Amino acid sequence: MKKLKKYNISLKRSLGQNFLINESIPRKIVETSGLTTEDTVVEIGVGAGVLTSLLVRKAKRVIAYEIDRSLEPLLVPLTTFDNLQLNFQDFLKADLSTLEVEGDLYFIANVPYYITSPIIEKIIFNAPPFKIAMLMVQKEYANRLLAKPATKEYGALTVTVSAFAIVSKVFDVSKKNFVPVPKVDSTVIKLEPKVEMEIPVEEKDKFRAFVRSSFAQRRKKLKNNLKALIPDVEAFLNEAGLSENIRAEELSPDEFIALYHRLKRW
Ligand code: SAM
Repeated sequence: MKKLKKYNISLKRSLGQNFLINESIPRKIVETSGLTTEDTVVEIGVGAGVLTSLLVRKAKRVIAYEIDRSLEPLLVPLTTFDNLQLNFQDFLKADLSTLEVEGDLYFIANVPYYITSPIIEKIIFNAPPFKIAMLMVQKEYANRLLAKPATKEYGALTVTVSAFAIVSKVFDVSKKNFVPVPKVDSTVIKLEPKVEMEIPVEEKDKFRAFVRSSFAQRRKKLKNNLKALIPDVEAFLNEAGLSENIRAEELSPDEFIALYHRLKRW
């Protein structure tokens, strides 16, 4: 990262600027993604371009977003790749409906952690159909996405994301691989959209509200969290074959999906 000094660039914590210094990690991410020379990849948060420089050598098209234009001098060498479209723009404000996709669409990124959830939401709900999203996220966040019912990490986030995507862990990454060294370790996760959506996308906000209410107070029983939302909540749970004493954290994502559909008919 000598270049940072050369161009007098100071990294901004507020933008989640922890850059990878160990090239073997982005290499492993790209290799395990399955990306081919026929495909299009979107990268979120180019930084100093360590991942981008591998993507441009691998993919047919690379569409990359970076919010911080002060990093531009670091990225000049990449502009010789004519398969790269480098956008100095807030990814969350980008219009993905106009993306020109050739082959399969991938998202590959070491995301800025302060906006991990909005990024995942945008990929799942506001992007053209994609094959795989390989995202490096904070380890604790990955643990919440991957959590099993009845554990302390399991919650509304786990249930909402797994209703729309299959999440799996790829590998952990120690904080020592970044500059500046962050306080937290990271994990690379893989998201694959579910082939058959069990919740129609237009009902995502309703489903999310239902799940959030269910977990509103974790220590309370589900019936207490839902009593303002569901008339005669005990009968509702009984008819669904669930104990009145059940807590939200004991229900699997599939059980939440079934309960949500049942609620629409109640
Ligand atoms: N890809 C590089 C790497 O792996 O070393 C940098 C990753 S760094 C964790 C995240 C990058 O996202 C930073 O360069 C930051 O400026 C950029 N960023 C932050 N917010 C963004 C946004 N809303 N849209 C696009 N890029 C953003």
